[in-house]
Amino acid sequence: MKKILITGAAGFLGSHLCDRFLKEGYKVFGMDNFITGDSKNISHLANNPDFEFIDHDVTKYIDFEGDLDYILHFASPASPIDYLKIPIQTLKVGSLGTHNLLGLAKAKKARILIASTSEIYGDPLVHPQTEDYYGNVNTIGPRGVYDEAKRFQESITMAYHTFHGVETRIVRIFNTYGPRMRLNDGRVIPAFMGQALRGEDLTVFGDGSQTRSFCYVEDQVEGVYRLLLSDYAHPINIGNPHEITIKDFAEEIIKLTGTTQKIIYKDLPVNDPMQRQPDITLAKKILGWEPKVDRAEGMKITFDYFKSLTEEELYKSEHKDFTGFIK
Ligand code: NAD
Ligand code: UDP
Repeated sequence: MKKILITGAAGFLGSHLCDRFLKEGYKVFGMDNFITGDSKNISHLANNPDFEFIDHDVTKYIDFEGDLDYILHFASPASPIDYLKIPIQTLKVGSLGTHNLLGLAKAKKARILIASTSEIYGDPLVHPQTEDYYGNVNTIGPRGVYDEAKRFQESITMAYHTFHGVETRIVRIFNTYGPRMRLNDGRVIPAFMGQALRGEDLTVFGDGSQTRSFCYVEDQVEGVYRLLLSDYAHPINIGNPHEITIKDFAEEIIKLTGTTQKIIYKDLPVNDPMQRQPDITLAKKILGWEPKVDRAEGMKITFDYFKSLTEEELYKSEHKDFTGFIK
């Protein structure tokens, strides 16, 4: 039985990855410190003998007994509001955390895949974004803590590959959504769906002309799975190229949810990228991968998930309290 360690296991993507690798017959070790995750995301695995949970902060030395075949490093705050509130933890998990996991991969002779992001392209001047574009990031802007941690993460991963011969993989994830996103994480899909369910107006930032391209979680997981098992060590974009403006997207959500509320406009956050669309030519060629779930279908499944939350969860709308994690 192949053994895989998945960090960020109690988060949105990490929990879906745990499910997928269990389904493929792996022994899965899930690691998380719950800073932005939720134990509810993995509660269904509590009695699964092939799943083991390890409560650990990956920025601290990782003592892992026994052998490992694979590591997926997905631990990191991912929502702009989260990483603005915990900037130092965000920098540390991308740098110190990645260093620890690369060291573990080297010691165990395991293959490691790290979760990078379209944010390494910053506010891109090339559109759509191809893997050979170097990006346009403000190092000291509010998003710099995330973007630069992820850029460092890619650099140190390539260095371990080149200098230590560690088998590494790098996925550049573009906006991905689906069930188990945290309703109050501030990202646009939970934000709009939560507002629709609570009967609040939908908050579009700026004039809503900025674009995003949303990928359904099942497609993302398939891309990650194929990349891990491939022999390709350079970064690959995984995302859905179907681009939409945020204003048009808000209108789609109004139609989907049937809300009678309207769109209201708020200030655009500093350095909010104006456009984002993955060029997935490489993923198609190397992995034979392309997304299968269109936005209408994926959004319906996601809205059904948010509808199933309890009243208490729905109205716990303020942002998560990080007090216990800030030292
Ligand atoms: P998430 O916040 O739902 O999950 C992240 C998980 O990592 C959480 O469970 C959190 O508690 C855990 N974590 C954070 N710091 C940790 C630490 N020091 N030690 C142990 N656990 C820690 O976010 P997500 O959307 O699932 O994102 C997962 C990964 O994918 C992140 O690396 C993120 O940068 C990357 N990514 C996600 C998207 C997306 O659209 N969802 C896009 C680009 C990149
Ligand atoms: N956004 C918005 N209203 C919200 C939340 C987000 O208009 O209530 C916008 C945000 O400014 C950005 C886009 O939606 O242009 C996507 O934001 P998100 O936080 O989901 O992720 P990002 O792609 O910026 O990392």
